[in-house]
Amino acid sequence: VPLKRQLTQTMKKQLPSTIYSVLKLLGKEAGRLSMRAYLIGGTVRDLLLNRRNEDMDIVVEGDGIDFALHMQEHYGGHVRTHETFRTATWKHPNGYKVDLTSARTEYYDFPAALPNVELSTIKEDLFRRDFTINAMAICLHEEAFGELLDHFNGLKDLQKQQLRVLYNLSFVEDPTRLLRAIRFESRFNFRLSKNTERLAHESVTHIHSVSKPRLASELIRLFNEEDPFVCVMRMDTFSLLNYLFQSPLDTNLSAKHIKTLAGWQVVLRDKSVAVHSSIWICYMALLTTMNKESFDELYDFCLTKEDIKTLDTLQSLTKQKIDLEYLLNLSLMDLHMTFAHINKEPLIAWFSIFTEKNTTKLFNYILKRETLRRTIDGEDLKRAGYNPSPLFKDMLLYSESLELTSPHISREELLKAIHTKYSVNENL
Ligand code: ATP
Repeated sequence: VPLKRQLTQTMKKQLPSTIYSVLKLLGKEAGRLSMRAYLIGGTVRDLLLNRRNEDMDIVVEGDGIDFALHMQEHYGGHVRTHETFRTATWKHPNGYKVDLTSARTEYYDFPAALPNVELSTIKEDLFRRDFTINAMAICLHEEAFGELLDHFNGLKDLQKQQLRVLYNLSFVEDPTRLLRAIRFESRFNFRLSKNTERLAHESVTHIHSVSKPRLASELIRLFNEEDPFVCVMRMDTFSLLNYLFQSPLDTNLSAKHIKTLAGWQVVLRDKSVAVHSSIWICYMALLTTMNKESFDELYDFCLTKEDIKTLDTLQSLTKQKIDLEYLLNLSLMDLHMTFAHINKEPLIAWFSIFTEKNTTKLFNYILKRETLRRTIDGEDLKRAGYNPSPLFKDMLLYSESLELTSPHISREELLKAIHTKYSVNENL
């Protein structure tokens, strides 16, 4: 991390030129309204760490909504406003989104409440943030463009690779910061400063006061970090896991499952296989070791329909009580005939529960499934003379299964195989 405080060159070098010019423009236009605009938070941190981050989080000393409307009036694009927080998103005509927030002082009235907004100065705004490394800003106004505002020594903490809260009651005021701390520790390989670590330990019980959806919105990000296993271990050192659930957890057992799932995710990532963010609820499910009481609590955490669907699927897979031996003896083709309709997220989570046996074969099925070309589609079947019917689904599934075992099989060979298997049916 460079010690420089004049960051114009760094910004020029690291940011796409369009973003750089939008930032210049925002600074200039804020000046015309007698406001000041700042690039803030994670974007500044990542700029200093030389990590890609193209978010344009802007705080203005003044009213964010007025500013956004001014930009729309003069430069086009589209504005969406959030009255309660006096924030706005200005979609620049070239597609970039700029989040414009009014500098504010009071974020929370009481732990876990929604922010209470009061316009204020940039310094007060920065003071209410979670960690010093996230509490830096870059001036965008013309006279000081590119200058780093670092009232709380965030730059030094970046160099020391540490996370430090800005005031002692930080975690009590917002206990979700505990989860954020663990997430950033793991992402950047940073540590909490000694004092911050102590404060974190002291405030763990306050996590009780946070609503499930608010916890969920941090947990979803935590379990989508590169190393969710490290995050879980760290949550365990703070005894955070048991505070998330009312029913007791068997963390020794769940750690094994989570390690397995996280390990497989590394393999999937190496092979560039995308995993849906709903994987987070699978990690949560593994934490419960599928124990009914704690598993049922998970539904209160679900944020989206996809989360609920993933949980339901995982639950029904475990309820089937399929024998692992039986599963391991299935051919690749039979595995596909059985599991083709099930998303990979609940499936790999379920496989991760069988830690006692080598389940590589099952995971390999997932990898193979990802490379399916799906050579034949419904149109091909119609062209081959079949009338559309519910059997199409079966035929396509059969074709996929053949492709799994013989990846180079041609379209003609597939159609021939389908014909042989299904032509006995008089209706075709
Ligand atoms: P990421 O790279 O994961 O998006 P980020 O730092 O950009 O991380 P966000 O959650 O997008 O994190 O928040 C943007 C900024 O808002 C943070 O950098 C931080 O300054 C501030 N912030 C977010 N959540 C909190 C919180 N719970 N308490 C205090 N400040 C917060």
